[in-house]
Amino acid sequence: MTAKDPLVIDGFASVQAVRRTGKNKQDPHYGQSRTRLPAAHRDSAAKTKGMPRGKIGHTVIPDTFEIVCYECGYTFTLRGRIQKTYCPKCRKILVADEQIIESDWSGRVKTIGTVQVRNGGSLTKAHVVVGNLILDGRIEDSTTKICRRLELGSHASGDIAKIDTRDILIRKGAELSYRSKLRCENFIVEGNFRGTVEVSGLVTVMPGAFLQGRVKASRLLLHEGGGLKATVKIAGTH
Ligand SMILES: [Zn+2]
Repeated sequence: MTAKDPLVIDGFASVQAVRRTGKNKQDPHYGQSRTRLPAAHRDSAAKTKGMPRGKIGHTVIPDTFEIVCYECGYTFTLRGRIQKTYCPKCRKILVADEQIIESDWSGRVKTIGTVQVRNGGSLTKAHVVVGNLILDGRIEDSTTKICRRLELGSHASGDIAKIDTRDILIRKGAELSYRSKLRCENFIVEGNFRGTVEVSGLVTVMPGAFLQGRVKASRLLLHEGGGLKATVKIAGTH
């Protein structure tokens, strides 16, 4: 830690459960609760997709979500919405809390859902086991295990390279430059990224995205309209 790092003020106060802030305000134990399931709320699923409440009808085909068990690593799918469930393999109960962090936070959270650290928010000395982490703030001195995807915004900073994640996505509209080498299974660029990546699987550069720096991967997919200015090594699997 350096001198300019902000003090950790109040962990729990800075965490909000998505969409159900009002009810969850009374419960200071976010991330520890085994029974509280804000993500399972029907309205929240609808709003996440940007659809007005009234238009949700019976004809809507439910989304399918890829879920990775944080206990055993088994991957399976859930239809409809992300909610508390049992892992079909190890039979453990999997919590599906969703959280938004908007200021300094240090605590523990374990969920198959998504934790979002917004610009101005940070994780310090936190212990995070999540399905997805959307990081547009700072992370340091934390242990993180992301079972699916780490999404990075323009303000992502700190120990990003130490995050244990399967995939990394540079968010659409994000402008990010990072010094340390990022390692993951799949790397997807929807915004603008400059740095060094070592990817065991596929690197994807989406239309309108730009990837600069050094890339080592076994496969690379450059969509039309996507930019690439990098030293590229395609290693293959043999
Ligand atoms: Zn499991």
